[in-house]
Amino acid sequence: GIRLEDELVHIQQFLAAAEIDYMLEGNPKLTNTSLMTENVLSMCIKEAVTNVVKHSGAKSCSILIEPSRTDLVIKVKDDGTGIPGNDLYFKGHGLQGMRERLEFVNGCMDIVRDSGTTIVIKVPNAFQ
Ligand code: ATP
Ligand code: MG
Repeated sequence: GIRLEDELVHIQQFLAAAEIDYMLEGNPKLTNTSLMTENVLSMCIKEAVTNVVKHSGAKSCSILIEPSRTDLVIKVKDDGTGIPGNDLYFKGHGLQGMRERLEFVNGCMDIVRDSGTTIVIKVPNAFQ
């Protein structure tokens, strides 16, 4: 498994190599999250960013970390082409795999189609 903080170092390098601007908002040092949940989060963010590089044609990608009292929300946002209507769950296994792993730690995922794509990931805090 890998800490979110360490995964984000790889992600920064990966996006730089793809010439996509990277922005991070929020603190990746998680304090209220179990190790297993953090591993799932790292995997999900890695897949979401891989999708940005492979599919979106985006100029920039932001990762927003938003903790609250009861849960942690992480958004992976790009300004690319958006997900074509039929591709969501039929073309590959990445998004489906994220959903399944998140369910396993009582988390969930939303896909927002705005000017690009935003993947919204939510997991419960470990201690509440
Ligand atoms: P795999 O992840 O199994 O290697 P994949 O990336 O094609 O294959 P998913 O990750 O499930 O599969 O994504 C499904 C499809 O949704 C992609 O094929 C692509 O068409 C579209 N997609 C996913 N993320 C984005 C994105 N950020 N921007 C544009 N299209 C996307
Ligand atoms: Mg994928």
